[in-house]
Amino acid sequence: EIDGGDRGVHAFLHVNTEEALAVAREVDATRANGGDDAEALHPLAGVPIAIKDLIVTVGQPTTAGSRILEGWMSPYDATVIKKIRAAKLPILGKTNLDEFAMGSSTEHSAFGPTRNPWDLDRIPGGSGGGSAAAVAAFEAPLALGTDTGGSIRQPGAVTGTVGVKPTYGAVSRYGAIAMASSLDQIGPVSRSVLDAALLQELIGGHDPFDSTSLTDPFDTLVAAARNGSVEGLRIGVVKELGGEGYQAGVEARFRDAVELLRGAGAQIVEVSCPNFKYALGAYYLIMPSEVSSNLAKFDGVRYGLRVLPKDGPLTIERVMGATRAAGFGDEAKRRIILGTYALSAGYYDAYYGSAQKVRTLIQRDFDAAFAQADVLISPTAPTTAFKLGEKLDDPLAMYLNDVATIPANLAGVPGLSLPGGLADEDGLPVGIQLLAPAREDARLYRVGAALE
Ligand code: GLN
Repeated sequence: EIDGGDRGVHAFLHVNTEEALAVAREVDATRANGGDDAEALHPLAGVPIAIKDLIVTVGQPTTAGSRILEGWMSPYDATVIKKIRAAKLPILGKTNLDEFAMGSSTEHSAFGPTRNPWDLDRIPGGSGGGSAAAVAAFEAPLALGTDTGGSIRQPGAVTGTVGVKPTYGAVSRYGAIAMASSLDQIGPVSRSVLDAALLQELIGGHDPFDSTSLTDPFDTLVAAARNGSVEGLRIGVVKELGGEGYQAGVEARFRDAVELLRGAGAQIVEVSCPNFKYALGAYYLIMPSEVSSNLAKFDGVRYGLRVLPKDGPLTIERVMGATRAAGFGDEAKRRIILGTYALSAGYYDAYYGSAQKVRTLIQRDFDAAFAQADVLISPTAPTTAFKLGEKLDDPLAMYLNDVATIPANLAGVPGLSLPGGLADEDGLPVGIQLLAPAREDARLYRVGAALE
């Protein structure tokens, strides 16, 4: 089915049928034999999974959605891939994304866009549009994404799937090609809150290969998803994440979700996060600064593509220049240039320094909000899926999709997006976002289960 053109969705960049079938058969055989080996199987053993093509895999290409990595094969598996292989989940293949995870629509992929299975003229969100579309189109029951500013949650919202950005450090980033290291986090994409909990428990945990990975066990997520009780829980509606710029149908489904929680015994409070209005501005300085540093390693020597200048001497600078000119797309170039500028001597304090101060203010807003509420709630994205091409030539309009998701990355707190029904005006899925304090991922699964 996936090989057969995937009905125009184009969720996958690479399909790995043979290896996936071999793993599935092995799990079947183990189950059929029964005994201790069958008992020892992970609950997700045999459940196929799709992997965002930013996460490195042995035996399958990893492109990051970029020409610059074309032809490169990773010599090692990401930590999350090792865990997935050990638990015997068949890996279906690698999913499409905006180049190096930069975008909100998957239109910045060097290999063509992914389309939203709900309406092929619309975007599936980004950067992890391939993973979300694969799950929404029933091509995969599970997928992995990465979320730097919303790339798991916003695609989840616009495709009617569940997506979770765990607490920063809850899941090892070893083997996720870095976009902005202080914001990046790997997380699950699924059709249900319980599936996401099972997957996060599997891929999470301390990893000596990631110095930012936490030692907390995060082993109560599945129990929380099975519990689903919100009796007495304080749910905070974030005043700033709504109103102007939010589609009426999105706000209506959001109010339904709040009422559902109230009906289930939660206490609804309003909280204010006055510095959230600066989050997008701070993100678009911090993120490109880290991007410009992380992408410097793609130099035409170490990985993938190498382009030689047509004439003149073959110096390292000229080979690097020709490779990067041909290998990077417009959005990657835009962010590298922006980041290099923001970090340059003379501008560093004014731009990067100020953005870091704003980051602290946003963390304080969260602290104050979580003193009043156990979990925060908002729409995940201000609108439903927009049309392909609609925002491609307007970077600022594209960036505005992330207003509600970015604060969590800046503060390192976990966020979950789940389907909240369809908007009246266009019949497209609306996403509801839940946010919890750092290390309290279990609360997201508990409240998420209540909303399902
Ligand atoms: N859409 C955001 C961006 O373009 C988020 C990216 C991400 O989370 N990887 O930066």
